[in-house]
Amino acid sequence: MSDLQKTDFSKWYIQTIQNADLMSYLPVRGCIIFKPDGYELWERIQQRFNAYLKSQGIRNAYFPMLIPKHFFEKEEEHIEGFAPELPWMTQVGDEKLEEPYALRPTSETMIGNAFSDWIQSYRDLPYEINQWANVFRWEKKTLPFMRTSEFLWQEGHTAHASEEDARKRTLSVLDAYTDLIENFLDIPVYKGQKTPSERFAGAVDTYSAESMMRDGKAVQAGTSHYLGNNFAESFDIKYLDKDNQMKYVFTTSWGISTRLIGAMIMEHGDENGLVLPPAIAPTQVVLIPVGPWQKNPEIMEKLTTIEESLKAKDIRVQIDDTDSSPGYKFNDWEQKGVPMHVEFGPRDLKNDSAVIKMRDLDDKESVSLDGIEDKIADELKVMQKRLLESARARNKANEYYDIDTLDDLKKHIETKKEANETPGFVLIGWDGTAETEAKIKEETGFTTRNIPFNPPMEKKVDIVSGKPAKYTVWIARAY
Ligand code: AMP
Repeated sequence: MSDLQKTDFSKWYIQTIQNADLMSYLPVRGCIIFKPDGYELWERIQQRFNAYLKSQGIRNAYFPMLIPKHFFEKEEEHIEGFAPELPWMTQVGDEKLEEPYALRPTSETMIGNAFSDWIQSYRDLPYEINQWANVFRWEKKTLPFMRTSEFLWQEGHTAHASEEDARKRTLSVLDAYTDLIENFLDIPVYKGQKTPSERFAGAVDTYSAESMMRDGKAVQAGTSHYLGNNFAESFDIKYLDKDNQMKYVFTTSWGISTRLIGAMIMEHGDENGLVLPPAIAPTQVVLIPVGPWQKNPEIMEKLTTIEESLKAKDIRVQIDDTDSSPGYKFNDWEQKGVPMHVEFGPRDLKNDSAVIKMRDLDDKESVSLDGIEDKIADELKVMQKRLLESARARNKANEYYDIDTLDDLKKHIETKKEANETPGFVLIGWDGTAETEAKIKEETGFTTRNIPFNPPMEKKVDIVSGKPAKYTVWIARAY
């Protein structure tokens, strides 16, 4: 990590997103403006996830943002969980509304109400839709992209005839999230189940894709919920089955948000700013003329030819022929995270070569113009893999397996702090009680991330009570 990343990661983060021109502040508490360079990252995430939805026959729909109060009151746990963060609309002009509306924090209630109209027979099932929308959660502590009071997300909502089908969807979405987060954003994922205290309000089971950032802190990158019959019973979502019996459906919901943009920045960024994985980068390659190129028209001609042949390969490329100095341009494009730049000047023209520089490597490489398009395409693919591998190696170095008591954990945290290093992710044994979880949080600030599906090892003893462990759990400090 760079010096600033080590000493003040938050400062580095804010500097990085501002230098890359991704967002802007405004005087609305906890909200941000997504500037075009930031919003385009979201559009690319949408494109990628829409392909999954399409492959599954799940279609997009749109529901109102205002949710009548009585919808919320139908599911007790749900309203209880969300109440502290709900903004309300209570008045129009001078007139007080008879019934207040909440600005949606999520749409289970709105969509549950619609499902109860739309679903009548077993022939209507499964009923699976998705919504891309803004949601509001008036969070106490906010951080651009990672946790904002208004954020953008997708929320999928499905209803099924059987528990088995609903559970299958819940887990297959978690796999789709993992694919997106790992293979598109190059962020390794820890898949598992949330503990009851971290469960979505109203869910039977919540599963999460967690990730470790460069500073060792955790991010809940995506969640998928199995809701059982909870919302079906509250909203009377019933269908007539083949056996002529009326039955409740089983529902699921799942979401990823603009938090993924923040996670990607924190995972890959370095001392020069943003680093974008090639798959998501709006511009993958910048071609920069160098030396006295204005005096030699052949240089721009050659660069234009390269640009066209890269475009023909579906590579997102642009030429920077502004009158800034090459040094300024290199720095500017690096800050913006562009995966590769190509330098080309009179000397290169003479040698029939060009210089390429990958954003995540220090060295430049001189390459022949002959076949340069293939070389560039290959290098982008290699970089896509390399970022994921580096992130995996970083994670490995920050995972701890041999901490068995709360005292050990405190010592571990202290030692790491003295060395200016991260305490990372710690795998612990848990007896399954809320008391243990609360004590860990209270005394160390660590929270349970999830119960991994495939733990790297089994922990036998609860870290607090010393009783036999029922589960092996990842804990960490989190964003
Ligand atoms: P949930 O409906 O609570 O399961 O949230 C779905 C996903 O949205 C979570 O897994 C987070 O990645 C993301 N998320 C939750 N709250 C926020 C927030 N305040 N800002 C940005 N993303 C959020």
